[in-house]
Amino acid sequence: MADSAETDWVSRFADEVISEAERRAPGKAIVCASGLSPSGPIHLGNLREVMTPHLVADEIRRRGLECVHLLSWDDYDRFRRVPAGVDPSWAEHIGKPLTSVPAPPGSTHANWAEHFKAPMIAALEELGVDYRGISQTEQYTSGVYRERILLAVRERAAIDGVLSQYRSAQVEEYFPYRPYCDLCGRDLTTVTAYDDETTELAYTCECGFGETVRLAEHDRGKLVWKVDWPMRWAYEGVIFEPSGVDHHSPGSAWIAGRQIVGEVFGGEQPIGPMYAFVGITGMAKMSSSKGDVPTAADALQIMEAPVLRWLYARRKPSQSFKIAFDQEIQRLYDEWDALGRKVASGQAQPAEQAAYTRAVGTAAGPLPATPHPIPYRTLASVADITTGDADQTLRILRDVDGVTDLDETRPRLDRAQRWIDEHVPADQRTRVRETPDQDLLDSLGHDERESLRLLADGLDDWSLDGLTTLVYGVPKLQAGLPADVKATPELKAAQRAFFALLYRLLVGRDTGPRLPTLLLAVGADRVRKLIGS
Ligand SMILES: [Zn+2]
Repeated sequence: MADSAETDWVSRFADEVISEAERRAPGKAIVCASGLSPSGPIHLGNLREVMTPHLVADEIRRRGLECVHLLSWDDYDRFRRVPAGVDPSWAEHIGKPLTSVPAPPGSTHANWAEHFKAPMIAALEELGVDYRGISQTEQYTSGVYRERILLAVRERAAIDGVLSQYRSAQVEEYFPYRPYCDLCGRDLTTVTAYDDETTELAYTCECGFGETVRLAEHDRGKLVWKVDWPMRWAYEGVIFEPSGVDHHSPGSAWIAGRQIVGEVFGGEQPIGPMYAFVGITGMAKMSSSKGDVPTAADALQIMEAPVLRWLYARRKPSQSFKIAFDQEIQRLYDEWDALGRKVASGQAQPAEQAAYTRAVGTAAGPLPATPHPIPYRTLASVADITTGDADQTLRILRDVDGVTDLDETRPRLDRAQRWIDEHVPADQRTRVRETPDQDLLDSLGHDERESLRLLADGLDDWSLDGLTTLVYGVPKLQAGLPADVKATPELKAAQRAFFALLYRLLVGRDTGPRLPTLLLAVGADRVRKLIGS
């Protein structure tokens, strides 16, 4: 289990894909594939569809072999429904190819599909994903699939035979190709006759239009999904293509496709692990208010590309995981930094090392990194307290860790700032008090006053380490204990009480950012004023 060959799933798949490629297509570039539908905002969960083959393709390239990662944009699929937030009049386009539907109002893109592809393309670039995008609209309308379409139609009885194993009711006159109507552009069409000799195909449309075309010359239609997918496996020679759990039920495209690709198209099904669901936490509020879904671009606004890559690299496709937009992201970054230190000191386990290497770069080279990676939770606290003021931020980060130019801390600083601005609810934001809480100060007993005096006396060591020692040390000093004493339950309780008092005096709540960071952010003079000394 701890063996790297067991745990580095990417390497294992690469081994399998390489040996399968040698058997199926020796000497040719190895083909990995993904498919995405730009029918609306592309949900962050769907990034796994791309990241899984990306990581495998990247490993194959790292081994010096030629590998293409095809990304099929299923943009010739029909427009199914108008998403929330878009003018309901778009309903008139239901049934048209996604590339024939106008982009949402206000968009600068040529059509619906392009509008929703664009942010994903930008995110994939930032993530370092090297792929070849294929527009299925271009493929179908340019006729590159023509021979295979004619073949599928000729073999429609065989296809029907495969599909009928999975359905109870008999389908009359199964036909695997659906024309888009030449008049209204929609796929509300029914094929009424087909002549295998001449390839003459007659169809009628719900709009009232009807015509007879020659399928051998027709480029305005599409194979149905369960035939389209296996056709493309054969056409492109795909060796590796994972898919989501929804594709793996009996009679699904993946299961039926295995038979269809062999019996009809003379190809083989790719190696195709089923990947588990990727959940999102902490986006609920935002999604409902924007009528929107979390996308890869949203994730990249709050975390750096290597961290997002790492989430995929470290988990086998069969393991589900969650991407955090809530407080959990701070813990994720702590883990990521801890791994970085382990790697730097040569202490990482082989599988950890592999996941790290896959996260920070690709076969093409390293991805951009933050030169001076201050802990994310510190940056988030500073961004919170300063509300993004650059001068204040620089002053604090100089005290925290000798930062001389904020650019050293970017892009991580910008990600933390964005997280604070967009994902931390107003009631969890930190507001440093302007004036001392005089009522509270007046109500304090002798010991509490004494603890504040000890704190004020110790503020001279104005560094993160010095202040950390100080805030933990004041309760020890008060209890007459040496500074290096092991914490007892009593001491821990005294520390908690002391911290709560400081939070109340500084930010008017019982909790807040880590105290040493908070003190640095507030500044010595203002701390003294707020604690009444
Ligand atoms: Zn029509």
